[in-house]
Formats: sequence, C-alpha cells, structure tokens
Amino acid sequence: MTSRTMFDQARGALLDDGRDLTLEELKALTEVPVEDVPGLAALAHEVRLERCGPEIEVEGILSAKTGGCPEDCHFCSQSSKFETPVRPTGYLDMNEVLAAARETKEIGASEFCIVMALRGPDEKTIDNVLEATKLIGSETGLNVAASLGILTRDQAERLATGGIHRYNHNLETSRSFFPEIVSTHSWEERYETCTMVRETGMELCCGALLGMGESVDQRIELLGQLREVDPTEVPLNFLNPRPGTPLGDRPLMEPLDAIRWIALFRLALPEVILRYAGGREVTLGELQAMGMTAGINALIVGNYLTTLGRGPLQDIKMLGDLKMPIGALSKVI
Ligand code: SF4
Repeated sequence: MTSRTMFDQARGALLDDGRDLTLEELKALTEVPVEDVPGLAALAHEVRLERCGPEIEVEGILSAKTGGCPEDCHFCSQSSKFETPVRPTGYLDMNEVLAAARETKEIGASEFCIVMALRGPDEKTIDNVLEATKLIGSETGLNVAASLGILTRDQAERLATGGIHRYNHNLETSRSFFPEIVSTHSWEERYETCTMVRETGMELCCGALLGMGESVDQRIELLGQLREVDPTEVPLNFLNPRPGTPLGDRPLMEPLDAIRWIALFRLALPEVILRYAGGREVTLGELQAMGMTAGINALIVGNYLTTLGRGPLQDIKMLGDLKMPIGALSKVI
C-alpha cells in the first residue's frame, strides 16, 4: 500500500468515521518511507486542528526540589544513584515559587506545574504544595499542576480537593521495556498512580520518553497503554543523554524520526493535549517549528528541570510566526 493510500485511510477513519486507528494501523504508519514523513506530519496537523482546535497551551514548570532522588530511572540526572553534575537542592520557599508563577503568567501561560524529584511526597510536602497552590491561584489565576511522584489514594484525594487540577505522572515507556530502565519501582506502581489521579477527579498528565533503546513495537505498546490510562495531556520527551547516567552515551533520535513519532502520537491520541517537553531542542534542532505542524498543541517554556530549554520568548515568537494562538485547553475550566 502506498503512503498516500495509508494517509487517506487514516484520515477517513479519524475525521470522517470518528474511529480511532487500531494499533496495527499505527504500526503500518511507522513504516512509511522517510521522504513521506512530511505527509504524515501534515495529516497529524489536520487531525489536531479538527479534533483540538487551533490553540496552543503554554505551561511554565518549576523544579521546587531538584536532585537527590532515591529512584534509579536510567535517563535521569536527578537520581542519587548516579554520579551526575546535578547537585541536590532543598525545597524552594514560597516566595521563590510565587515569583516563578508570576513570570510564567507574564509570558501568557495558563498552566504552572510544581515539580519535585521524589519517589513520592510525605505529608509535609503535600501541605506545602497545597499552600502554594492556593497562593498561586489567588495571586496569578494560573491553573496549578503538580508532579510529586507515586501517590497514595489519600494523598491523591487531598491534592484533588486542594485545587491541583492536573497531576503529572509519566508512564515513560512501555510495560515490557520499563524493567530495563528502572529497578526501584515498577511500571505497575506508575500505572496505579495514573489511574488514581483520574479517579480522584484530577486531570491526568501522563508522558512518554522516546529514544531510550525501546523498539518500534514497544512504542506502539506504549501508545496502547496510554490509551488505557486516558490522559488529558501527554508530554512527549526525547532522550537528552545526561552525563553520568546509564543512558549517557545513547545517540539522539534523528530529527525526522522524532517528527514521525510526534505525528504518530497525535494520530493515536487525537484529542490529547500533546506537549513538547524535554529534549526537543537537542533532538529537533532546526525542525522545532515542524513539530508544531505535526500534531503538537502545547509547550513547556523555560527551563526543564535540569537542562536549560531555550528562552521562552523564542517559543512565543515561534508561535507568533506560525500564527498559532495561545489559549487554555483544559477540559475542566
Ligand atoms: S525520573 Fe523522577 S523518580 Fe526517576 S530518578 Fe528522576 S526524579 Fe526520581
């Protein structure tokens, strides 16, 4: 079957019949020749505009506790198990958090995410995050999201009732590949937290990290598993190999391959907020704007936890040049 025929069939399923593509259909699209990737991207862009609208959601993230994490995620420079240049910091105080939220508001963002490098939060951390959430909400009007690791049900309920509208917990990779990447907690623990987040009424933000050595089949498996947890948002990360981590020597994904996978994520998850997250600058280089026309409809601006993203104004200019309006995409507001 030619690429053109496959694209026509996928368009018919997604836009005319309102039917999701099967994992087999998605697998077939992974095989389109590299010269047809721009056509795949164009289809994904069309699907995004039709199913999500033209707005781009902009989010600022703040690392409120960096490094010193007891877990051993092989891609992460914040793990205490590896010798990396990241030095652990204490918790940021409320003024610093509020100042970062105000800066985020000034660049036109609608979301602010408080991120901590933890296996999971203790009660004091939950108290602090809820206090910050109240303050940020009243001072800036931003939606507040959090990423604090694995939760108990009681903690998830407290966060939900305390005003956290979206919680980030990534599956990162497929169930079958996960044991090669993390040994200190299981994929199932992650899956459970994701399920709990939705059950307690928060929006689920559940991301993926591509380029760790997983196979094409394992990426398709991950897409099926992401569909099961039914996230509102999927941050798409590309491995930026960090010195000192076990994945520090892995090669970067090829830029056009990254575009192919952005498009496939959009075609697999037509209505999610698909967010550009870590590793996009080093992986995509000059093709970053192309990702915006391949299915992406959200950006994290500024610094990504331990690696500096490009300046937020560059991203805002890119959106201006692409004539893409900034807006809030949350389903609950
Ligand atoms: S990815 Fe999260 S849980 Fe894993 S080591 Fe890094 S900070 Fe810890």
